[in-house]
Amino acid sequence: MTTMPPDAGPVLLIHGGAGAIQKGEASPEREAAIRTDLARSLEAGWAILARGGPALDAVEAAVRVMEDSPFFNAGHGAALTSEGTIEHDSSIMEGRTRAAGAVSGTSRIRNPVSAARAVMERTPHVMLTAAGAEQFAREQGLPLVAPWSFFTPERLQALERVQAAKRTAAATTEKDRHGTVGAVPRDGAGHLAAATSTGGYADKMPGRVGDTPIIGAGTYAHDATIAFSGTGHGESFIKGVLGHRIACLVELKGMTLADASRQALDELAALGGSGGFIAIGADGAAVLPHNTPGMYRGIARGGRMAVAIFGDDVLDA
Ligand code: ASP
Repeated sequence: MTTMPPDAGPVLLIHGGAGAIQKGEASPEREAAIRTDLARSLEAGWAILARGGPALDAVEAAVRVMEDSPFFNAGHGAALTSEGTIEHDSSIMEGRTRAAGAVSGTSRIRNPVSAARAVMERTPHVMLTAAGAEQFAREQGLPLVAPWSFFTPERLQALERVQAAKRTAAATTEKDRHGTVGAVPRDGAGHLAAATSTGGYADKMPGRVGDTPIIGAGTYAHDATIAFSGTGHGESFIKGVLGHRIACLVELKGMTLADASRQALDELAALGGSGGFIAIGADGAAVLPHNTPGMYRGIARGGRMAVAIFGDDVLDA
């Protein structure tokens, strides 16, 4: 597990999804493009933190870059439902106020994380879903696009592989299922935030909502404890209420973020879940654990940035 010691300055962690990411699977060009987009996400968030901007702006900016990238399972490039449709989930939370917003089951909002933020800031609610969320986004002037503009050939092929495997009772590969993007920063004023965005799972049932828009399960931020964004088998994250669970272990049991994260990952596995998460403590300590072979991930602090993909990649920033 990658753990980073406390840091007095701003820190930003991102993930682009955990899964069975194997070396040599993607062409060198594709792998380089993925690393570039992870770096672009870090740069977008870091630019805000470096000029003293708020954690909330940094998470939204970092996640938007990965939503727009075709390489991650969120926004453009999201996984497809069993009907071959798009259903995005996203949420955002501010650690200072514990204000939170989320959207689920949307297929037209170009950047679901910005819609989640609008729900948080401009409605009395925490989550809007499907058509109501899209109508609200339109009223707020957020860009809506045709659902097909989110499609990529890779996600269609992944859906075909998963559905073919089901017909023959063969094991589906995790690679075809996992995804999700997220970010957690601590800004210069010591405030935390978290945001997560996903297309869910290839071949998920239409209407299925995962952990990503569920506050406490896939996304959580509280200045006194931690900020958290998860990726993996959403049902297990919901049952384990993973983000809030780590916050409780830190706050009520006095555990370090690293120890609480190890325990939470064990609990996730005991629930049958694979995946990973990024989390940052009130003191700027950072963890990026996963129980999958790889997790797209990155860190920026002190003006230095590093990205990693495979389990044995060293994240050095
Ligand atoms: N956690 C996401 C979900 O269950 C999917 C993923 O991160 O792979 O919707």
